[in-house]
Parts: sequence; C-alpha cells; structure tokens
Amino acid sequence: MDRKEIIGWLREEREEKLCGLWYEADELRRRHVGEEVHLRGLVEISNHCNRECHYCGLRVGNRNIRRYRMTAEEIMGCVNEAVEYGYGTVVMQSGEDQGISKEWMEGIVRQIRRETPLAVTLSLGERSEADLDAWRQAGANRYLLRFETSNRALYEQIHPTLNGRRSDRLEILRMLTRMGYEVGSGVMIGIPGQTWEDLAADIELFRDLDLDMIGVGPFIPHPGTPLGRDVEKLLAPVSEQVPATELMTYKVIALARILCPEANIPSTTALATLNLAEGRELGLSRGANIVMPNLTPVAYRADYEIYPAKACIRETAEDCRTCLNRRIASIGRQVGKGKGSRVNNSSLTKRF
Ligand code: SAH
Repeated sequence: MDRKEIIGWLREEREEKLCGLWYEADELRRRHVGEEVHLRGLVEISNHCNRECHYCGLRVGNRNIRRYRMTAEEIMGCVNEAVEYGYGTVVMQSGEDQGISKEWMEGIVRQIRRETPLAVTLSLGERSEADLDAWRQAGANRYLLRFETSNRALYEQIHPTLNGRRSDRLEILRMLTRMGYEVGSGVMIGIPGQTWEDLAADIELFRDLDLDMIGVGPFIPHPGTPLGRDVEKLLAPVSEQVPATELMTYKVIALARILCPEANIPSTTALATLNLAEGRELGLSRGANIVMPNLTPVAYRADYEIYPAKACIRETAEDCRTCLNRRIASIGRQVGKGKGSRVNNSSLTKRF
C-alpha cells in the first residue's frame, strides 16, 4: 500500500468501503496473531515529569495536579495482582521522572523477573542509554515510546528541548532495538497541525521501523496544556487537518495491522474514553489484539491525568479484569495465555 492509498483510506467516509478495510484488518489479525487477546496489566508508577510536552497533563508546568510516586512495595502489590489475574505482562508507565533512579528501577525489574512469570514492559519516557541498558540487563523485555508524529517540525513545536537538548525519539527507538528490547511506538491522532500526509507518513514509519508493538490513540485536549487551550490557533488548514475522532483511530489501527501484520496492537484507553460502550471491542474487531487493564491503585488513578475524563478512573483492578474478560468473550475471542511476545520475532537479524 503506498502513501496515496493510505491517504485515500484515511479520508474515506463511505461506510460500505470502510467495511472492506475493517474486514481486511480483522482477517490479517486472525491469520498473523490469532484469536487471543493478550492482557497487559498497566501500573502508572509516577506522574512526576520534568518535560513540557504541549499536549500532556503530566507536564511540569501543570500545577493543578497532585504528584505521586509509588513505592516499591506498592508496585509489587500491583504486580502480584497481575499474577493472580493471569496477566502475562506488567507495563510500568510514568512521566519523565528523574526521581526514578536507574538503580531503583533495576531492583524492581529484577525482583519481578525473579519472583513472577511476567514479562516486563517499561514506558518511562526518554532515558539515558545507561539507564535503558541497565534495565534491559535486569530483565526488562519491552519498551514503549511513542514518536508522536513523524513530522519533525510539528514534533519540535510541541516538544520543548530539555536543558537545550532536543529530543530524538527515533534514535532512542533504534537504540532500544539494538539492546534487544521488543520495541513499541505510536502516535496521537489529530494533534493540531497534523495533516493527512503526516499521518500517512506515520503509518509508513511503523512499517519501516518494523515495530513489535504499535499504540495509537486520539488526541484529547487537556485544559492545563498549551494545546488544550489554543487548539483553534494551531490547526492545519481545514482541508488538511486530521480530526481527532474515534473513526479516524479505527482507520489507523486497521492500516497499522495491514502494514505491520505481526505487530501487537492495543485497543487503547483513549479509545475507550471516546466510546466507553464499545470502543475497545471495535478496536479489537478492526485490527487490535491487546488490551491493557489498569492495575494502578484507585487512590492514584485520577492523578495520572494525561488527558481529562480518562475512562475507568474509579474502577478497581478487579473491576477492570471482570469488565475486560466480558468484553473479550462478547466478541468471540479468548484471553491470551503466556507473555504474548511478538510472533516470529526475527527483528534483530532483519534490522541489524
Ligand atoms: N512519559 C512517557 C509515558 C507517559 S505518556 C512517555 O512520554 O512515553 C503516554 C502517551 O500518552 C504519550 O506517548 C502520548 O502519545 C499520550 N498522550 C499524552 N497526552 C495526550 C493527550 N492529551 N491526548 C491523547 N494522548 C495523549
């Protein structure tokens, strides 16, 4: 599929045509990654952040947020729930928190790998080579870092430098691959300034990076951020701006599946936020094969406010498990067993 065709699908509005896209994505999903839906237990370990990303509620400039960092004991409590519920993976996510030291995280990763059968995924933002390497050596299996947009100018507009250092997430993704992590990335859909051409290039980049995991979700404006306050001023010309809609998100999930048939693709919380009734199921029926039940203690849930009105902030881990099991069964799929690593992972030999 070339750039023109991808743009054609992104702009497609006719329902009967889109049915064909959903069908093809679902077929490829079935053929390449099967009927199992893998559950990744998400633990939002800290909302401290030293960055100023223009879209994210965790940004350091947002004073209307109570900051927390979970203790190692609290994290292990969540990890043990993941084991009890039969999840194959625990995903630890945070803002870019320098209070999370290399050694502290190393100890936690090591303990999880030693004491449980779980795969460990980290999503702790842009960290140094030494940190990433130490965590990999300690046993971390996967790392998630979205590149957010492949349009360099737009990227730089919404990601201020840190101490004069401009961020290069693509370089970090390549480094993670070299270290032997399974690598996940992705973008937000409908960021102000994002054009059809940009989004099509993003999807091509998923393929070119040969990502093991692809996470995408709609941009949801947060009033405590520059992009949440001044969206109107920043939009691309009307005919070019990608809308941050639920439908657009399904299209990107489906196209990601078609271009990257073996990737693990979650039906994300941001999608459930737009359509709580059936967003997750529709994502799973249009190319996705992963969901991420939240294990974060309820006391901290609301404070991990990347965007407002996030779905399921009051549900306990137990509620999330029951709800997701029911949703997966309702579309005739099974809950996956084991770690749910990428199928046919020949990425190291393919890329380097
Ligand atoms: N600090 C880590 C992880 C936390 S943010 C990191 O940067 O990787 C996780 C993801 O949430 C981001 O990559 C971004 O794509 C998404 N996100 C942040 N703000 C958002 C918003 N306002 N709407 C939708 N998604 C958002």
